[in-house]
Amino acid sequence: MIEQTLVLIKPDGVKRGLIGELISRFERRGLKIVGLKMVQVDPDFSKKHYSNHIKKDFYKGLEKFITSGPVVAVVIEGIDAVEVVRKIVGDTSPKFAPVGTIRGDFAHISLEYSDKKKKAAENLIHASGNKKEAKQEVSLWFSLDELHSYKISYEEHVM
Ligand code: ATP
Ligand code: MG
Repeated sequence: MIEQTLVLIKPDGVKRGLIGELISRFERRGLKIVGLKMVQVDPDFSKKHYSNHIKKDFYKGLEKFITSGPVVAVVIEGIDAVEVVRKIVGDTSPKFAPVGTIRGDFAHISLEYSDKKKKAAENLIHASGNKKEAKQEVSLWFSLDELHSYKISYEEHVM
């Protein structure tokens, strides 16, 4: 039930000065940050992270986007964290992401618009799509000694 999931603040989120704003949305839900670092992704690592997208039409633009500046990688822990974090993040297409989600509050572009521009959709944030993906992504991005175990005060009140 207690799960870990990977979140990335993508280069657009970092460059827009939204690192703190976006991370605080997880903290205020009572989720625990157990790993955190800034990383410059290179093309090889992009291919590892997005291995299931390599053959897709948008991959070239996606690699260009994710390597265009540093990302902030975060491991988040909590009850059913994979599903809860995806809900906080919102739909892939910011156009359809509900208001109140990160993509719905800070962006509005459509995938059609990005495709027309031959660019990846700049949607601020990545979150692991399911439990299997979360396990793979946490171990791809973080070594065991970069993951921390501690108690947050929320555990007394919400867990
Ligand atoms: P993420 O994996 O980044 O959390 P997601 O799971 O919502 O996003 P995926 O289908 O895994 O969406 O796509 C990965 C990323 O590739 C998207 O977040 C977006 O930046 C980009 N992307 C996906 N589909 C398209 C598309 N049709 N056109 C342009 N960019 C796209
Ligand atoms: Mg995905």
